[in-house]
Amino acid sequence: MHSFTLLFLFFLLASVTVRLWLSQRQLNHIQLHRSKVPEEFTDKIKLEDHQKAADYSCTKLRVGRVSLAWETVWLLFWTLGGGLSALDLWWADHQLAAMLNGIAVIASLVILTSIIDLPFSLYHTFVVEQRYGFNQTNWKTWSLDLLKGVLLMLILGLPLIATILWLMNQAGEYWWFYAWLVWTTFSLLMIWAWPVFIAPLFNKFSALEDASLKSRIDKLLQRCGFQSEGVYVIDGSKRSAHGNAYFTGFGKNKRIVFYDTLLETLSEDEVEAVLAHELGHFKRHHIKKSLLISLVITLLGFALLAWLMESSWFYTALGVETASTHTALLLFVLTMPVFTYFVSPLFSALSRKHEFEADEFAKSNSDYRALISALVNMYRDNASTLTPDPVHSMFYDSHPPASIRIDHLKSVAGEAS
Ligand SMILES: [Zn+2]
Repeated sequence: MHSFTLLFLFFLLASVTVRLWLSQRQLNHIQLHRSKVPEEFTDKIKLEDHQKAADYSCTKLRVGRVSLAWETVWLLFWTLGGGLSALDLWWADHQLAAMLNGIAVIASLVILTSIIDLPFSLYHTFVVEQRYGFNQTNWKTWSLDLLKGVLLMLILGLPLIATILWLMNQAGEYWWFYAWLVWTTFSLLMIWAWPVFIAPLFNKFSALEDASLKSRIDKLLQRCGFQSEGVYVIDGSKRSAHGNAYFTGFGKNKRIVFYDTLLETLSEDEVEAVLAHELGHFKRHHIKKSLLISLVITLLGFALLAWLMESSWFYTALGVETASTHTALLLFVLTMPVFTYFVSPLFSALSRKHEFEADEFAKSNSDYRALISALVNMYRDNASTLTPDPVHSMFYDSHPPASIRIDHLKSVAGEAS
C-alpha cells in the first residue's frame, strides 16, 4: 500500500472519529441541560421553548451522524474503491475531444453526488424542519429551486471549469497562478452580481416600507458613515420560519437585507441594534479580511494541486488509474476536506472574534440592551441551543454561545453581569 493511501486513511479515520466524538459531546451536554432553562434566560425563554431547541438540536446531530457515514462510504467508493476511475474509463470509451471529456467526467460526478445527497436534503426540509414547524416550502418551490440551481450551475459553473481545465492543460508551468486569477475574478463578479441578478431568482426583494423604521435605519447609516444601495426585505417566509439579516454585494451594489420573518418578531430598537451589529462587520473590515483569507487559501490550493497533478503517486494512491488534469482536480476537491478539517477551528475562532468586535461596534452605535433582547429572541425563534458543549462550540461555532456573547456585551457596556 502506498504511504499516501495510508496517510489519507489515517486522516479520514481521525476526522470521522473527532466528528462523532464532538457530536456525542454536544448531544450529552444538551440532554444534561434539557430539564431547566439556564438562569440568565428564565425571564425570556419558556421551558417549552428551551426543550424544543434541545430536541431540534439533537435531531440535527443524529441526522448529521447518518449523513457523515453516508458521505464517508461514498468518498471511499469514489477514491480507493475505484468509482472515479471507472467513471473516467467509461467516458474515455466515448472518445470525446480531451477538453469535452474532462468536462463530461466532472459534470457527471457533480450530478451523481447531488443525487446521492438528495435524500438528506429532502429529509432535512420535509421531515426535520417540518416536525419543528420551520418548513414553509412546498414541493413546487422546492423543485423549482433545484431546477434553478442546476441551471445556474450549468450557465456559470461549466464555463469556469472549462477555463480552469484549459489553463491546466495549456498554460504551462504557472497555470495555477492564471487559474487563481480567473477564480478571483469570477468570485468578485459573483459577489457583485449576486444581490442584483441571482438572489432575485429565488426571493422577492422589496424596499423596506415601514416609514418610522426606515428613518431610524437611515439615521443609523448616516451616523456610521455607511453608503448603501438600500435596505431590503426578502420573503424568507416563503421557505422557512428561520429569520436572519445580512449584507450582500460590494461597491454600489451593497445591500442590507432583512428576512420578513425577522422583522415580524423584532421591535424597532432591536432591528436597529441588529443592523448596527451587521454594520460593525463592515466597518471593522471583516468582510474584506475574510475575502482576502479565502483568496490566499485558494492560491495555496492551486499551487498544491499543480504539484500533486505532476506526481503519479497522487493518482495511484487514491485509486485512479489514468492521470489527467480533470481526475487531479476531482481527487483534490474530494479529498482535501479530510486534511483541512483539523484547521477549521482556527476559522471558527476568527469568526467568533469578529462577532465580538461587531457587538462592540453595535454597543457604541445603538442600544446594547436591545441587541441582547434581539439575540435572545433569535435564539428562541430559531430554536438554537443555549447550552452548547464548550469543545463542540470551540470547534464549529461561527458565533459565540449566547451566554458568553451577552456577558461580553454587558461587560463592554460596563454593566456587572
Ligand atoms: Zn455577526
